[in-house]
Amino acid sequence: MTVSNGKRHITVLGATGSIGLSTLDVVRRHPERFSVYALTASTNVDEMASLCREFRPAVAVMADADAAEQLDKALATLPDTRVLAGEAGLVEVAVAGEADTIMAAIVGAAGLSPTLAAVKAGKRVLLANKEALVMSGQLFMDAVASSGALLLPIDSEHNAIFQCLPAERVRDLPGAGVRRILLTASGGPFRNHTPDMLREVTPAQACKHPNWSMGQKISVDSATLMNKGLELIEACWLFNTHPDQIEVHVHPESIIHSMVEYVDGSVLAQLGSPDMRTPIANGLAWPERVDAGVAPLDLFALGRFHFERPDVDRFPCLRLAAEAFEAGGTAPAVLNAANEQAVAAFLAGELCFADIPVIIERTLVRVPSQPADDFDAIMAADQDGRAQARAEIERLARRTLAH
Ligand code: NAD
Ligand code: MG
Repeated sequence: MTVSNGKRHITVLGATGSIGLSTLDVVRRHPERFSVYALTASTNVDEMASLCREFRPAVAVMADADAAEQLDKALATLPDTRVLAGEAGLVEVAVAGEADTIMAAIVGAAGLSPTLAAVKAGKRVLLANKEALVMSGQLFMDAVASSGALLLPIDSEHNAIFQCLPAERVRDLPGAGVRRILLTASGGPFRNHTPDMLREVTPAQACKHPNWSMGQKISVDSATLMNKGLELIEACWLFNTHPDQIEVHVHPESIIHSMVEYVDGSVLAQLGSPDMRTPIANGLAWPERVDAGVAPLDLFALGRFHFERPDVDRFPCLRLAAEAFEAGGTAPAVLNAANEQAVAAFLAGELCFADIPVIIERTLVRVPSQPADDFDAIMAADQDGRAQARAEIERLARRTLAH
């Protein structure tokens, strides 16, 4: 691993997204500590060109080949930035010796291959891309153990839990004296909606989260509670624990980002404004602290906190995720694939919001879990899950038209 002139050299996978831009905002504040080695994006050439002009990365990758060609032309005046294309380009910058720190902030299954490559290369991996860990759990954590990668959670809840645990006991909760983890959830924008109201919600309403500003996919996941389901699985792998030891608490203010309860009755919490720059700065600078540009917390203005139990009857995605973790093997990869397809169909106006869990549940019933021993088995399950979910979406659409 190369760390020259005392700086961290960073590859940002998913630089044009919500997490990517927040990461670059923290980087921008500390030019003496952080420099950008590579940036990657999918199709947004204009945003990427503007980021390249500011951060002058050695490499810029567009996952889309046409977009890479356009970026190459747009950056004709920046000869020091090499433009690469496709998954091979993403993997190349994830493992390059010139970068010591990889921010994994691609959304969905597309992030698995480069994130896993960074882990295998023994990097400091800042994990925002929870889907990668959900899909490949055991394989991913085995790779962390064998490569000596430093895995730092960026998801705000997992970063909070990480901060509330002793650093040397992050994967030994019994040894640390932990009784349980209290995983907080905002409850999303439809927390108080009746089942009938949930059938009517639009993509625009689902993408408008009450507390956080995020990418579209995770915003819909927050509204269905699938985000909490994915996070439950994520927490089990990161902290080497089980859903029985994790209790989801809906906390609509999103100020307490999660808690750890110890056997002596102590409950440690991490609090902060709902701004992803806090966990990102924690991961970038760990074990040190840097200014993240986040406004100080004003508890007087907030006044009070609320807590309630999640309603898994109205929001079955949380239950489906726990069941997929219990089923093990490729079931979480199938859950994730079906969810990605269902969310895309909802955003495209092909599926009603309340049918997202219906598609996922049917897909899980029809695609049996297989051993998830290697990358190919996981990708095959991802493909099967997607194909089955598409078939279920089309079946449901035909039935709706027939009525
Ligand atoms: P986003 O949609 O805003 O950004 C996604 C990024 O991934 C973009 O840079 C996009 O170009 C890139 N990308 C999309 N498809 C790609 C593909 N096929 N190949 C390569 N790159 C591709 O998403 P986001 O909200 O920044 O979320 C990113 C990840 O971080 C997700 O896994 C999400 O669950 C996680 N996360 C986000 C937040 C948040 O506040 N936004 C909080 C916690 C965790
Ligand atoms: Mg989260």
